[in-house]
Amino acid sequence: MPHFDLVILGAGPAGASAAVTARKKGLSVALIDKARFPRPKLCGGLITGRCATHLRDVFNLDIDPQLFETRRNFEFFMDGKPLGRLDGVPPTHLTMRWDFDQLLVSKALAAGAADYTGQRVETLDLEANRIILQSGETLGYTCLIGADGVQSIVARALFGDPFDKSRVGFALEIEAPSQTPTPDTPIRIDFAAADWGYGWSFPKRGSTTIGLGGLHDKNPDMKGHLARYLDTLHTGQDARVKGHFLPFGGYRSVPGRTNVLLAGDAAGFVDPITGEGIGHAIQSGALAATAAADAIAAGRPDTALALYRPKTRPIRTALRSARLLRPVIFSPALKPFFASTFRASRTLKRDYMHLLSGDAEYPQLLARTALRLPRAALRWALRRKRSVSR
Ligand SMILES: Cc1cc2nc3c(=O)[nH]c(=O)nc-3n(C[C@H](O)[C@H](O)[C@H](O)COP(=O)(O)OP(=O)(O)OC[C@H]3O[C@@H](n4cnc5c(N)ncnc54)[C@H](O)[C@@H]3O)c2cc1C
Repeated sequence: MPHFDLVILGAGPAGASAAVTARKKGLSVALIDKARFPRPKLCGGLITGRCATHLRDVFNLDIDPQLFETRRNFEFFMDGKPLGRLDGVPPTHLTMRWDFDQLLVSKALAAGAADYTGQRVETLDLEANRIILQSGETLGYTCLIGADGVQSIVARALFGDPFDKSRVGFALEIEAPSQTPTPDTPIRIDFAAADWGYGWSFPKRGSTTIGLGGLHDKNPDMKGHLARYLDTLHTGQDARVKGHFLPFGGYRSVPGRTNVLLAGDAAGFVDPITGEGIGHAIQSGALAATAAADAIAAGRPDTALALYRPKTRPIRTALRSARLLRPVIFSPALKPFFASTFRASRTLKRDYMHLLSGDAEYPQLLARTALRLPRAALRWALRRKRSVSR
């Protein structure tokens, strides 16, 4: 049976990042995915500044105009009514996951990872440190990284469930005909297009990616929300609708067990306000591979989790802060307050933008919001009183 220092299950951004990092550290690596690449992946494909930094650090990839369209303009809506627009903000980039993920996998294979893409797993035997593929082949490992997405079979084997059903998100997306965007065409964000979530319209060269997502258990009629959203946008009514779970606040505070580590969506590392997960996937994949390499080098593969967990603390702190901040943005009870304050405040729009572009961190933003909230609430109450007495 072939034996690898590291077997990585899942070759999305988290798995490809883990593979490239582990190969740089000299580990023998097997990269398994049930899909052959390129493969479809439901995603808005918005790459933040934070994610662009990880792409450069791990994959040595720059924002190439062949693969990415850079946008600097945003417009915001709620219930179809404009909340304002921001131009000339820090850049965010749009890509298609079909091409993006294939590029990352090709980097992992070029770095020397053994190619087990297009292979399904038959048995995951965590006690015996081996994986049996549907082809019948058995792979042994010293460390295992579960980078197999939100429905992770590795997380299920460790914890019984791949995710916490009360905290998971669900999103629907379509590809609408391209509106032939120019570099100035804004990215559109629609707050409250879904309950405890939002809608997006990302104008790309070949098509416009339109979707909405929110907490799964607060949106029993997500398809109805999408139909209303498409009516508002006057496009996409005939397009094929696809849906997917996404982690939305239910991250793992202990992302693994001894020599088995979870990275990316498998660990729930997705922002519960913006839905951004690609950057965290690349970062956590690299951290997991580094922890595995250090544990193996020390002759103690069972300490991989103990090395990995503290390294993921900044990600987990950011996600926890976002979860605390989320009710201010998404709670139906605070909707009139949020809409009025967001419309009136350029600072709030900029803060939101900085989150999307990845150059603001949640803990600082949470502290600033706590300071500003009482004054904003007072101003809102006065505005309401004036409009009622008029
Ligand atoms: C509708 C939608 C829109 C989104 N938009 C954005 C966005 O604009 N920007 C952003 O940053 N994030 C976005 N996200 C989140 C983002 O897609 C994920 O966070 C990101 O893909 C996580 O990467 P990953 O490598 O952890 O998992 P994935 O990209 O899901 O990759 C997991 C891989 O594991 C493989 N796999 C799964 N199970 C098995 C198995 N049993 N055996 C073998 N292989 C397996 C899959 O085939 C897949 O290739 C969006 C998510 C959704 C659902």
